[in-house]
Amino acid sequence: MTAGIYTSRARLKTLLIESYSVPCQAVTTDHIENYPGFPDGVNGFELIEKFKKQAEKFGTEFIVSEVKDIKENEAHSGLSLGRMYKPVWEILTDGKSYTSRAIIIASGARPKRLDIPGEDKFRGKGVSYCATCDGALFKNKEVVVAGGGDTALEEAIFLTRFAKKVTVIHRRNTLRGTKILQERSFSNKKIEFVWDSVISEILGVAKVSGVKVKNVKTGAEKDLSCDGVFIFVGYTPNTAFLKDLLPLDESGYIIADINSLTSKAGIFACGDCRKKLLRQVVTAAGDGATAAFACQHFLGEAV
Ligand code: NAP
Repeated sequence: MTAGIYTSRARLKTLLIESYSVPCQAVTTDHIENYPGFPDGVNGFELIEKFKKQAEKFGTEFIVSEVKDIKENEAHSGLSLGRMYKPVWEILTDGKSYTSRAIIIASGARPKRLDIPGEDKFRGKGVSYCATCDGALFKNKEVVVAGGGDTALEEAIFLTRFAKKVTVIHRRNTLRGTKILQERSFSNKKIEFVWDSVISEILGVAKVSGVKVKNVKTGAEKDLSCDGVFIFVGYTPNTAFLKDLLPLDESGYIIADINSLTSKAGIFACGDCRKKLLRQVVTAAGDGATAAFACQHFLGEAV
């Protein structure tokens, strides 16, 4: 959205292709309290709607579709006045194909799975990756949360609004999440921790009735009854459609330079889909602005 605001203000004709299958992560975040300008925090959906309105105001067009592949149209690519190579890109979606001289990839990331028995079977029947979406279904119920990072802690705290008990199961005995979230979760009476443990199986018949918990130090397993399982064990970048086009790191994140340029002329990457230190709304917005400016510069030189 930020890249769209910047390219549109630079009077570049901008089309934003939004996926219908992969939700924007910020939209599913109930409360964002570290985006500057909102001292009382802001709901993720409301913040992203504001971004969208701002991009539309300056002329960004939006369509909802899935990008399947990006290919160079070699017949139309070439050298511009002997100055620099000027590729033309074809963006193939499930509906139609689009031609562009520049592409900014901001495809984000999606929640990782645990890949354990029961995870698929009970998805939507007690297994969830989004507390904002499904938390209210667990009023006065008991739920478990897998993970020990910021997302697990933030969502565990959110779930205490509904659930009577939230058990966080973490594979180590120290948390990865930010100290302020650790303090809040330790002082929340509805949250309990199970340390050095992983969920090895999700149990139930028609819906979740419990989990099998394995202590990774002793190997001992025990059953824990619960009504819901929320999985927050990190993210996987949405970059599978780029694997033959761009270099990705070992986890699938796009490798781009400090100005967001990838190894391909005219293709830029920003936000959670690229290799970087900190993945937040504020850094995604900063990246988007940089990618748009670099893109504007590239197109100016390429004319
Ligand atoms: P994360 O920081 O990668 O943490 C993932 C957690 O899941 C870790 O505690 C990890 O354990 C655990 N884990 C990973 N694979 C596992 C497995 N197979 N089985 C059991 N546990 C497993 O992911 P995240 O919490 O989703 O955060 C992602 C990024 O978003 C981070 O940069 C985070 O700071 C950011 N974020 C920020 C905020 C905020 O600022 N308010 C909120 C949400 C997210 P180990 O600790 O042992 O590795």
